[in-house]
Amino acid sequence: MKPVRHLFGIAQLEAEQIEYLLTLGASFIDLSRRPLRKAPTLRGKTIINLFFENSTRTRTSFEIAGKRLSADVINISAATSATKKGESLLDTAQTLAAMRPHVLVIRHSIAGCCEFLAPYLEGTAIVNAGDGAHEHPTQVLTDLLTLRAHGGFAGKVITMVGDISHSRVARSHLLAARKMGYTVRLVAPKTLLPAEVERYGCEVFHDFDAAIPGSDVLYMLRVQNERLTSSCCFPSIREYHEAYGLNRQRLRLAGEDCLVMHPGPMNRGVEIATDVADSVQARILDQVEHGVAVRMAVLTTLCGAHAMEEEA
Ligand code: ASP
Repeated sequence: MKPVRHLFGIAQLEAEQIEYLLTLGASFIDLSRRPLRKAPTLRGKTIINLFFENSTRTRTSFEIAGKRLSADVINISAATSATKKGESLLDTAQTLAAMRPHVLVIRHSIAGCCEFLAPYLEGTAIVNAGDGAHEHPTQVLTDLLTLRAHGGFAGKVITMVGDISHSRVARSHLLAARKMGYTVRLVAPKTLLPAEVERYGCEVFHDFDAAIPGSDVLYMLRVQNERLTSSCCFPSIREYHEAYGLNRQRLRLAGEDCLVMHPGPMNRGVEIATDVADSVQARILDQVEHGVAVRMAVLTTLCGAHAMEEEA
C-alpha cells in the first residue's frame, strides 16, 4: 500500500488506503471507552488545528484524538489568527510550518487550499478538515466506520437529502462510493443540486418519498446558508421541511432497519424532525464517537508516514 502522506480528499485515496484507515480507526474505538483515555502513540508529535470556518465536531475531535494519543495539540481559530491583520493564508501556514509541527489540520472556505499549500510546507503533513464545498474526507471515513459497526457499507444504498450543491460531505461520499462499493442516491430540489449532476453517475430524485424504498441509510444534510449566494433556493423553511425534511412518516416508509445519519450540525425542524433525530434508528451520536477514532487513525498514519521518511 502507498503511504498516506497528506489527506487532501477521498479523491486521492485508494480503496486499500481507506480500508487501512478504517481498520486502524476501529482499533481506536475502545481507547475512548476506557476509564483512562490515553495512549503514548503520538508522544513527541505536534499537531496544529487551523480553523477558518466554524466547527464543533471536527475541531474538537481532532483535538481529542491528538490528546488521547499524547500529541501536543495547538488550536488556532480565524478569529484569533494574524489573518485578521491582513496576513495571507499561505504566510500563516508557512509561519506555523516553520514551528515544525508534524501535522497541520486545516479548515478553510477555499476549495483545494490544502493541496495548494502542501508543497510550501515541507516536512508537515496536511489534513483537509473541510475545504469550502469541495471535500470533507474525515467525515466520510467517520461515516464508513459507523456503517462498518452497523452491518457494513458494501452494497448498501445511502440516500443523501438536502443541500447537495454546497455539501463537501456529499461530494466526498460520491467519490468514496465508487471506490468502496456502495451506492449514493441524491435527493434535492433542482436549486440545491450541482450543475451537471448527471456526471456523478448516480440516481437523482426531486421527490423524497420516491427515493426512500430500498434505502439503507437516510443521510440528511443541512442547508449551507453560509454558502448560499441567494436566498431563493426554496420558498420557506416550512415548505422545505414538508418536501425534504425527514419526519416520522418518512422514517416509517423507510422501515425499521433503515439508519438515519447526519454529519451535524443539525437544524431540527428543517432537514430533520426532532423525534427522528432522537429515534433509535439515528446513528448521529455514533458518528461523533467514531469521528474521534477515525481522526486518531488519520493522525497516527500521517505521523507514521513522515517518521518513516525522517528515518530513511
Ligand atoms: N459539518 C459538515 C461540514 O463541515 C456539515 C455541515 O456543516 O453542514 O461540512
